[in-house]
Amino acid sequence: MSKRRQIGDHQLHPESMMMGYGYDPRLSEGALKSPIFQTSTFVFNSAQEGKAFFEIAYGLRERGPNEELGLIYSRLNNPDLEILENRLALWDGAEESAVFVSGMAAIATSLLALAPAGSTLIHSAPIYGGTDYLLTHILPSFGIETIGFDAGPEPEALQQVLSRLEHPDRLAAVLIETPANPTNTLIDIAQCRQLIDAHCPRAPRVPLLVDNTFLGPLWQKPLSHGADLVLYSATKFIGGHSDLIAGACLGAKSLVDKVRTLRTFFGTMTNPWTGWLLLRSLETLKLRMTSQMKNARYVADFLADHPRVQSVHYLGLLQRDDPAWEVYRRQCTAPGSLISFEVVGGEQAAFRVLDALKLIRLAVSLGGTESLAEHPATMTHADVSVDRQAHLGITPGMIRLSVGVEHPEDLIADLTQALDA
Ligand SMILES: *Cc1c(COP(=O)(O)O)cnc(C)c1O
Repeated sequence: MSKRRQIGDHQLHPESMMMGYGYDPRLSEGALKSPIFQTSTFVFNSAQEGKAFFEIAYGLRERGPNEELGLIYSRLNNPDLEILENRLALWDGAEESAVFVSGMAAIATSLLALAPAGSTLIHSAPIYGGTDYLLTHILPSFGIETIGFDAGPEPEALQQVLSRLEHPDRLAAVLIETPANPTNTLIDIAQCRQLIDAHCPRAPRVPLLVDNTFLGPLWQKPLSHGADLVLYSATKFIGGHSDLIAGACLGAKSLVDKVRTLRTFFGTMTNPWTGWLLLRSLETLKLRMTSQMKNARYVADFLADHPRVQSVHYLGLLQRDDPAWEVYRRQCTAPGSLISFEVVGGEQAAFRVLDALKLIRLAVSLGGTESLAEHPATMTHADVSVDRQAHLGITPGMIRLSVGVEHPEDLIADLTQALDA
């Protein structure tokens, strides 16, 4: 396995390791690229070896000093997924990672690995629609209490929920999504960490989970701000081409091992073909995300100056007197490529703009090479009540834009004609 991380004293950057790290061509006939290991099971060299692999896989004994988990069966492990997990972990500086068949599979498996029946989960709101449904409708039926708090750069909302907990000892984990969708509201990860530890002091500490789909893994690294697990819909930026569904969970080995064990028994791992596609995607991750972010800056500036646009929610446009500015400066290294903006004239006007777009496609999802636009109030957030929508700042005139890698002038030309419509 090529696990080179440095040349002499020089530490290599993740983008330089995406092409070869974790893969040894000598094990695959010299193939420069990893083959797709499209196999359900792996042949043991001897019965003794099979026995040893299972002892490790089922935790029946401690691993030897240089002993790696051998390949057994593709629900437990597979070379494409192992290489992918090794490479993915580099971006977030994580000890371990586990990949899943979808972002929802990563979130559901991780939460259930941490929260037994009778425990409590706290989460930020708004949160991704699927996660919201899981927290509000599914987990309570498993005997898990879930409590939401309003996302925001200031600590009061979380503090209130924490101080009102009847049984702080039953708090199993806190899950936040920052920036929040579709409003780009920021939550201070380090402050969450402090608040949780102050209200629920315990060792090991109460895990803080961050859904980093919107800015990660390039522009926000939650593990370095006090998070314990980072979650992704790899369908979005990591996959990046809108042609697959996948998810990931990253963090310290002790926690990821727990999550991975449940993944084995739920069967929520991804498959070798998707794993291989993601390896290919990772090679251009930085190029894509950088290009998308630069385009988004142009588009956000254009929208902010447009007379038919009431307001633009984009991290690159935060003003210094906004409480979110300080959080942004500490926590994020670039504003990413998601923009929400409100057009004058409510739902009707927003629909007219969406229907008039010619290059930008009308679809949910985000983070792909092509620009996509959607209407949160009636699409991704249709399940949120009108009152809640108003409270969260999801207005009828709001359009969410995921900016792709097209030429920025073409995107602006398309938006210009659509806003004139
Ligand atoms: C898309 C998304 C998810 C769900 O991921 P899937 O891959 O669709 O299962 C979770 N969180 C966020 C922030 C997302 O955007």
